[in-house]
Amino acid sequence: MPIDPTLAYDHSNIFARILRGEIPAKKVYEDDFALAFHDIAPQAPVHVLVIPKGAYVSWDDFSAHAPAEEIAGFIRAVGHVAREQGLVAPGYRLLANVGMDGGQEVPHLHVHLFGGKPLGRMIA
Ligand code: 5GP
Repeated sequence: MPIDPTLAYDHSNIFARILRGEIPAKKVYEDDFALAFHDIAPQAPVHVLVIPKGAYVSWDDFSAHAPAEEIAGFIRAVGHVAREQGLVAPGYRLLANVGMDGGQEVPHLHVHLFGGKPLGRMIA
């Protein structure tokens, strides 16, 4: 069920619990700003989720409220993960679903990183 991204951050959401180490995830990268782990239901040969360590509901919340250092650190981490996964030469796709129309289900900002096969051209 898509979430309402205007709601306050829910500290019991599944990605907050992964960040706190309360439930397991197949981690591929971690630094001061971000954690990256394999999606539990991969939609491509590579399907990694990259999340900021701060408590942000969505891309909207993050872009409006995160300090510049956290935004820069998170964006760098996404690029780092893509390089580490060997996706730069073949290419890849980044996706952030936001709110109801965007189909966002987990209320902690996450960027999907897809790759490992030709993904086709996608506008929406
Ligand atoms: P959204 O629709 O919110 O953009 O995507 C949420 C993503 O989180 C989905 O692709 C879903 O498979 C993934 N997901 C949901 N619960 C878990 C979980 O407990 N662990 C992991 N690794 N991924 C999850």
